Amino acid sequence: MKVLASSAQTYAFIDQLRMQGKRVGVVPTMGALHEGHLSLVRRAKQECDVAIATIFVNPAQFGPNEDFQKYPRTLEGDLDHLHSSGCDVVFTPTNDQMYPSGHTTFVDPPIVANDWEGKIRPGHFRGVATIVLKLFQIIPAHVGYFGRKDYQQVAVIRAMVRDLNLPIAIEACETIREPDGLAMSSRNRYLSEEERHRALGLSRALRAGQALIEQGCTSGPVVEQAMQRELISAPVDSIDYAALIHPETLERVESIGGPVVGIIAARVGSTRLIDNATFAIP
Ligand code: AMP
Repeated sequence: MKVLASSAQTYAFIDQLRMQGKRVGVVPTMGALHEGHLSLVRRAKQECDVAIATIFVNPAQFGPNEDFQKYPRTLEGDLDHLHSSGCDVVFTPTNDQMYPSGHTTFVDPPIVANDWEGKIRPGHFRGVATIVLKLFQIIPAHVGYFGRKDYQQVAVIRAMVRDLNLPIAIEACETIREPDGLAMSSRNRYLSEEERHRALGLSRALRAGQALIEQGCTSGPVVEQAMQRELISAPVDSIDYAALIHPETLERVESIGGPVVGIIAARVGSTRLIDNATFAIP
């Protein structure tokens, strides 16, 4: 497994592989890797000749009161995991490499970035869209692999790729969960044992939403209330949103007539967690 920190070297290396006719898949991450990230790498390796992962904790996507400083950084272990998952190349740029002094160009994110995470974390998707575009420039991959765990992020990236005519396909991969249902996240390591238990409220709320829809409920607000009740009984410490949205426009759904996505953001202790599920309609 090749580990590269220079963007020029990374571009040259990937460009050369492309010229040899190799299909390249890229998996952008912020490190502190878990099975969710590794599932993306394995999928990239299954579908492409070369899997490249990137590890960069992107300051531009963190708000001033968020956890950029304390975000877990576990490079040694990450490289071991990537190696075992069949990753071929890892790009680990420095901050100066990605944001050299004088860097003032940012992506104005698409409209699907406006609500939900975008509203609660102003500037977050501007940071995400900018870093992902920069990574796509440095790594001319055929396919980018992203997790559905960050549902709105995938929508933002898909819209950016379409709007900016980027020559890359985007694959959204299923959320990997702990056996008890908790969606894997680098932030789960912040949770105490007691908080870890209460955090199960998120996946339980999504299951409650799914169950109600299976019973024939067609009211978005009724499903939302059921999800909120589960979160309150967990109890989580605060709820940013627990909503039912259209899978593409990300607008709230009042009357359920087709596939819908339940999305949740809640705080347990000082840890902010997100989760979502696409609900099958009976
Ligand atoms: P992050 O390091 O949090 O920026 O995540 C890097 C990529 O891994 C993103 O595309 C995430 O959506 C994806 N990811 C994070 N957690 C999971 C999970 N539990 N299952 C699948 N993909 C995930």
